[in-house]
Amino acid sequence: MALLQISEPGEATAPHQYRLAVGIDLGTTNSLVATVRNGKAETLPDNNGQAILPSVVQYLGDNKLVVGEAAKNAAVDDPYNTIGSVKRLMGRSMADIKKLSGAIKYDFVDTESNVPRIKTRGGAVSAVEVSAAILTQLKRRAEQALGDELSGVVITVPAYFDDAQRQASKDAAKLAGLKVLRLLNEPTAAAVAYGLDNKAEGIHVVYDLGGGTFDISILRLNRGVFEVMATAGNSALGGDDFDQVIAQWIMQQAGIADNSNQSLIRYVSQQACAAKEVLSQSEQVEIVLDGAMGLSWHGVLSRSKLNELLDPLIKKTLIPCRRALRDAEVTQAEIEDVIMVGGSTRMLRVRERVAEFFQCEPLVAIDPDKVVAIGAAVQAHTLVGNKSDDEILLLDVIPLSLGIETMGGLVEKVIYRNTTIPAAKAQDFTTFKDGQTAMSIHVLQGERELVSDNRSLARFELRGIPPMVAGAARIRVTFQVDADGLLSVTAREQTSGVESSVQVKPSYGLEDAEIAQMLTDSLSHAAQDVAARNLCEQKVAAERVVLALQSALKADGDRLLSAAERKNLDAGLRHLQEVAQGNDHAAIKLATERLNESSTEFAARRMNDSIRSAMAGHNVDEFSE
Ligand code: ADP
Ligand code: MG
Repeated sequence: MALLQISEPGEATAPHQYRLAVGIDLGTTNSLVATVRNGKAETLPDNNGQAILPSVVQYLGDNKLVVGEAAKNAAVDDPYNTIGSVKRLMGRSMADIKKLSGAIKYDFVDTESNVPRIKTRGGAVSAVEVSAAILTQLKRRAEQALGDELSGVVITVPAYFDDAQRQASKDAAKLAGLKVLRLLNEPTAAAVAYGLDNKAEGIHVVYDLGGGTFDISILRLNRGVFEVMATAGNSALGGDDFDQVIAQWIMQQAGIADNSNQSLIRYVSQQACAAKEVLSQSEQVEIVLDGAMGLSWHGVLSRSKLNELLDPLIKKTLIPCRRALRDAEVTQAEIEDVIMVGGSTRMLRVRERVAEFFQCEPLVAIDPDKVVAIGAAVQAHTLVGNKSDDEILLLDVIPLSLGIETMGGLVEKVIYRNTTIPAAKAQDFTTFKDGQTAMSIHVLQGERELVSDNRSLARFELRGIPPMVAGAARIRVTFQVDADGLLSVTAREQTSGVESSVQVKPSYGLEDAEIAQMLTDSLSHAAQDVAARNLCEQKVAAERVVLALQSALKADGDRLLSAAERKNLDAGLRHLQEVAQGNDHAAIKLATERLNESSTEFAARRMNDSIRSAMAGHNVDEFSE
């Protein structure tokens, strides 16, 4: 039956219609959707009352797929058609994935566009498509619960996600038919869930220990503005690792020596995980390995034994904590709150160690599984206009410095890492050669001095620069990182106004471990980098002298130099060109200085000559004002 339209066409049915917005935590292991109803943020459960949707998709063929718990349960029997932890592949190229190999067990198809696709019974699927399937499931759940179409969503992403990973997350939402109001960093969402944005000011820590990853973020709230001061983490540390350690202990206790039977190990790991979760409430737990696998053993695991087994892993989380504090340049004493996020922070030992390290009791009042989705829902509610008086401005930071390539293969950083976004910064560059009309701009990410040691994000060209002498053109390069962390770079020649720009959607991403590696490299190679930089700069200086002298010789060499002088300069020029091919910094410097010296007289003559011709026909007094 068709419904009658009760409002004027083009006008809303109600003047202050409530708009439906949700927050989605699109997690590696689990995903959730939440919304604000009657002024209260809450997660939306499925028909079985479960709020948590395992981030697993099973492809059945014939365009059919299963998402969530059922798919997770199918993973053992149908591993190649059941995709989990796809978040690790978002925004990655085939080359990145090959580097990650080991962790990734799927069958990949090499495609021309370099978007990796996983072979399944339902065809080859990309990470974006798998994520879209998860989002579609959550969208359906929300629309069913709320009874209408959604106006928009806020999707959370790890603070360290780079452009490609963020863009891939947005693409997945688009594919799922969702309107993304904005991407929000997970730690920021957790802080919003606790209402820390209503506090006056302070520094807060978000400690997120999930199933497979650990992330630490330091946020600063200042006059209602949130800023992520620093982030660090370990992309291969979480509850799954705890399970492995407990499983090894159980196998040792039960006298199981076979370490190669995968289904046996999986079974024991499941028992280990269950025991671990019980110990968050009880002092001890009974573990029973029954007949199913030809096993018959039972034993007891106490909380103190659990603590002893897991302490080394828990300690490992404190290393990134220390690094983040150092990056943010704050001390433990300055931390006001520590927010616990992720299922593994239910473990009492984790809470104890964190309390000890930060010298304050961590916040645990909101379910650590749900806190990110809840914060995203609060933010979505505000952004969609249901709460206009509340103006939270959420800021995040850039994980690695962004810059451009300059002469000699060097990187000039434009925006430094840990800069708060949105951010915009401009830097002026100039041309290197006389009459240069085009400039190639190479955008890079990383901390090292040499282009080859950093990651290339994009290249583009600025054409139509009016011909001028070297160094006269003024080219302003502006880097702009928007609130979602996406970068655009614009180059503009100031006198003519010619402009060219690029949106950076890099085709591959970086693991946070790689980010950490790039940072470590930049520290350990500092001295070497400085030497390399000096050499490059010396080469650039040499080339500049060569070019200038060549152009001067061409213009006035015959007129102003004797044959002997000319021969001498030509020889010096050739010598410098030769030496500059090599890597001897001191030799290049010496040859450059020598040539500079021996050409001084020629330069002086040229200057006198040009003054003479400029003054020809003028009275000297005209110039003496
Ligand atoms: P992710 O962020 O990777 O999607 P979650 O935040 O959902 O992961 O955390 C999942 C992890 O939390 C699993 O390793 C699970 O065993 C662990 N976990 C859940 N509940 C408990 C508990 N009560 N005690 C200890 N660990 C728990
Ligand atoms: Mg999580």
